[in-house]
Amino acid sequence: MMEKRNTVLIPGILSIFILISVQVFIIRSVWKQKDEMFALRYTMRSQEALSFINRRIHTDGFDTVRLLLEDYSEKVINDLQTIKDPEKLTGKKREVLDYFKGVITSEEDLSELLSAYFVKRGFDNNFKSRVVIQDLAMIRNDTIIICKNGSFMNQQSSADAGGVSSSEISKSSVLVTRSILEDNNYRFLFDYYIDFSDKRRLILKETSASLGLSIFSIIVVVILFIITYKNLKEEKRLSELKTDFINNMTHELKTPLSTITVAGRTLEVEEIRKRDDKILETAKMIGKQSVHLNQLINMMLDISMWERSQFQLERKPVEFNELMNDIVDSFKAGAGHNASINKNFDFKGVRADIDILYFTTLINNLLSNAVKYSDEVPLINIDGFIRDNHINIMVTDNGIGICKSDQKHIFDKFYRASTGNIHKFKGLGLGLYYVKKIAEAHGGAVSVESKPGKGSTFTVSIPY
Ligand code: ADP
Repeated sequence: MMEKRNTVLIPGILSIFILISVQVFIIRSVWKQKDEMFALRYTMRSQEALSFINRRIHTDGFDTVRLLLEDYSEKVINDLQTIKDPEKLTGKKREVLDYFKGVITSEEDLSELLSAYFVKRGFDNNFKSRVVIQDLAMIRNDTIIICKNGSFMNQQSSADAGGVSSSEISKSSVLVTRSILEDNNYRFLFDYYIDFSDKRRLILKETSASLGLSIFSIIVVVILFIITYKNLKEEKRLSELKTDFINNMTHELKTPLSTITVAGRTLEVEEIRKRDDKILETAKMIGKQSVHLNQLINMMLDISMWERSQFQLERKPVEFNELMNDIVDSFKAGAGHNASINKNFDFKGVRADIDILYFTTLINNLLSNAVKYSDEVPLINIDGFIRDNHINIMVTDNGIGICKSDQKHIFDKFYRASTGNIHKFKGLGLGLYYVKKIAEAHGGAVSVESKPGKGSTFTVSIPY
């Protein structure tokens, strides 16, 4: 059983795991692609914007910067040329670089122009600009290099990053332009990038459909798997119940059959045939066992008929109090002769349309279970009353009781609380199934309350 379950469970879980991995892989690829597409799109849009700005406004967005740097470089170049002390020179160079850096980041107009262009074209303009200084040199008679290929130049060390650290530029930053500003005193080369802070959100929006579909398909597969697995378990349980039923039924059929066989053999004996009383006794036994056999076979036929079609009730109006008294009294006289049964009916003269035959079977099944599932002298209370336009019948016993986990299943076909073939209490697991079917056919329901060792109460409720 366990092994069979694993042969379904392990491949199932494995397939779900593979499905999730594939989906994750696909989503990651789609994300990467969208990310690259995003950068590419904005590179193209920036190029468009640059040429538009150039054509229409005749600027590259660095005019203010140019003016300020021209002024500054004019003043600073003399200082740089006259300083002989290398340390002081390095300090001065750093000062110059900082000034350039400050001016280019705070005084550029390109960001504003780009943003205006993007808004006009309906593109996202929620970006941050960044400048990475590549080269900076002051030029008079000779060239004083301050920054080369993004590194600050001095005598002590050449490994210090100049400008804005290039590590701040992420892979998905968009390079808008590489610009050179120069005049007689300086040559300044830098890269201008833009970065979209809510790029993730935008890509998420674009990928949401495929992302949603992936998550949805995973959820559907998991749910389907759980349903299939549950169905499989249920099938297994039912097939076990059926096997139990067949074993029990065979046993039940064999008992009267073997009695009849023995009775037949008895009649073959000459001495027996000479005695009328013995013949009568044997004939009675054969008759009784045949009736029992007939009942068993009818029961089997009934189930298969119920399976195929809906219950056909033959309803008749009956005085309920009278009917219940009749049923209980004849039970007391027969199967319930050694039980103590207390009736307590209060049906207020109600007449109801019910199928008397089926209803009698229902009550008899409840009463015979109350007698059967008891270790002591059965003490049974049967109460009947009217509540909310319903006829309620409660059968309470002092029997062995039913544990919680069994209570869920006792009304199932073939279910017996302790499964297996060897039972202390004989039965086929059909009594309560009948009870439920009959109650439902009358538009009602049946429920159970029970504690192991404390007895059980079955309540049938039928509308009238
Ligand atoms: P059967 O009696 O043939 O086994 P039923 O459908 O009548 O089949 O009952 C199903 C199971 O419910 C029984 O096997 C028994 O374990 C449990 N059961 C039914 N009635 C009682 C009761 N009054 N007290 C304790 N257990 C009960």
